[in-house]
Amino acid sequence: MADRHLSVGAAPRSRSPLSDVASLGNSPGVVRGVAADVIDGRVMAAALRARVADEVRCLTASHGIVPGLAVVLVGNAPASEIYTATKKKMSVQVGMRSFAEHLPPSASEGELIKLIERINRNREVHGILVQLPLPAHIDPRKVITAIDPAKDVDGFHPLNAGRLVSGQAALIPCTPLACIRLAKSVHPSLAGLEAMVIGRSTIVGKPLAQLLLSENATLTVAHSRSSDLPTLARRADLLIAAVGRPEMVRKDWIKPGATVIDVGINRVTREGESQIVGDVAFEEASGVAAAITPVPGGVGPMTIACLLVNTLRAACALSALPPPKL
Ligand code: NAD
Repeated sequence: MADRHLSVGAAPRSRSPLSDVASLGNSPGVVRGVAADVIDGRVMAAALRARVADEVRCLTASHGIVPGLAVVLVGNAPASEIYTATKKKMSVQVGMRSFAEHLPPSASEGELIKLIERINRNREVHGILVQLPLPAHIDPRKVITAIDPAKDVDGFHPLNAGRLVSGQAALIPCTPLACIRLAKSVHPSLAGLEAMVIGRSTIVGKPLAQLLLSENATLTVAHSRSSDLPTLARRADLLIAAVGRPEMVRKDWIKPGATVIDVGINRVTREGESQIVGDVAFEEASGVAAAITPVPGGVGPMTIACLLVNTLRAACALSALPPPKL
């Protein structure tokens, strides 16, 4: 198990490709990888939430504005119930107002869109999040397009996606924002780094690619039709996996000394026990990488902290105030 935790403001480490491989055992010839630094998403997220809470206090004290986040859940999927409960709890903890809307699984697309239009008009709500996935009979694209783009704190509305691509101020999806913050805890500048994203989804891979380009990284985006992924991945100084396949990325996919960000959340059963693993085989990858995010405890908590940042940003923008410095 990797044992060194890297949190906010940690100094970047430069390593020669061979410095990760050291003779550690007492027996000559036993060569083992030295464990990578673990990028501690929980610690970084707690620090970011504390900064959001400070900004919320100032906003409320100086302008009487309490940022409000509405979380909309349709159905009773256990994972979605846990995610929405966590988001509500965290928003309240940083001093925001939480609005919860829970529709039954049988709710129609029309009912959901009507509800969103009602929340759009509520001046106490600055951020709207519809928990995905939605039941199969509801088209998520229609629902997302119904959200006021100024309150679209998930950043999935086509207007925000287009603004991101064209380099204009936008609400940006939270998971890609989280990945950039985690990567920058190791590399304060991503300029010139060879970065590779595995996955090209609308909610993670594509917006993340845009952010990496805007950070001046040299970018490869791989996906289900890419050939020879291990060879492509081994070029990357910064490797980000957003695939949804348990432990697909093995140690021989990783450039020695690389930084690895694991977005994947995969539930697997091992020895009769259910557990969550990422898209990266953590134990073996941490013997080759210089820094790596764990699952759980990496991208997940930072994603929620970035949602709170987005809600605060939306509250400022809707009140014609400058964006918070976060
Ligand atoms: P998705 O299914 O929408 O997209 C997966 C992407 O991976 C696709 O672009 C596909 O081309 C690519 N892919 C699939 N199989 C592949 C293969 N064998 N080789 C190469 N590429 C392949 O998934 P998503 O919504 O982008 O989520 C990806 C993972 O991240 C999931 O495990 C999800 O649960 C997780 N996730 C985590 C967070 C978080 O907060 N930590 C947020 C969003 C998603």
